[in-house]
Amino acid sequence: MKNVVLVTGANRGLGLGFVEHYLSKGWYVIGTCRSIKQAHALEELKNHYSNDLQIESLEVTDESSISNFICHIQHLKLDLVINNAGICIEEQLGKWTLATFTKIFQVNTIGVALLSQVVWPLMQPKSKLINVSSGLGSISLNISPEANFDAYAMSKAALNMFTARLAAKLKSKDIWVVAMSPGWVKTRMGGAEALLTVSQSIYKMAKLIDGLNSEDSGKFYSEEGDRKPW
Ligand code: NDP
Repeated sequence: MKNVVLVTGANRGLGLGFVEHYLSKGWYVIGTCRSIKQAHALEELKNHYSNDLQIESLEVTDESSISNFICHIQHLKLDLVINNAGICIEEQLGKWTLATFTKIFQVNTIGVALLSQVVWPLMQPKSKLINVSSGLGSISLNISPEANFDAYAMSKAALNMFTARLAAKLKSKDIWVVAMSPGWVKTRMGGAEALLTVSQSIYKMAKLIDGLNSEDSGKFYSEEGDRKPW
């Protein structure tokens, strides 16, 4: 039986990197995207891995999309879930808007919680749920006053709290929930100046994910495997 992984936001960036990695390791991969028609890179992978890649439509801010998605995968047992989909919008103090804050929290925090709620019953004991967080979500690391990632940082801090709470709730099921920062990565979100390529970041995170155990559940790690302060 193949291991099964679910990756959200799989059409580009780190999500696509996770999909490529786990396909190359012989896993069965469920990759989600908002628009299958525009997910050209995923479709291309499907040509090579027709039996091992399942592409599903999922908008994490839409409850009916979540329900529809779960109907398509409920026959599967999941070994790994990677809540990767996320957005970042810069907005400076004085120009903050309800719309931006709400949107960011809906995708980065609330969408992850609502999806995790319906996905964990498909997970087996010793399976892992990874929330892709960010160093910007750490309250105790240096906070740069110049950077205008306030809503994003708040949404990831809330995601970290969600990680700790879900880990506590799933402890009796032996399902491990971990928040992980990917580093600063060259994607549409990270930009061309970022320090890591997608494959470098994925290599580090996948190694870390491989080695996780029950003691790690409820914790926050960097891509290097160091504990991140909350
Ligand atoms: P990208 O912007 O390249 O990709 C984001 C992915 O999320 C896309 O697949 C996008 O789909 C998807 N997505 C966005 N909104 C939604 C939604 N409402 N429902 C479903 N999917 C959605 O970003 P990265 O690959 O860089 O980021 C991946 C994760 O890593 C994010 O959680 C991000 O916060 C985190 N991260 C990234 C860092 C970096 O340096 N790159 C640093 C720290 C954390 P679509 O194409 O349809 O928009």
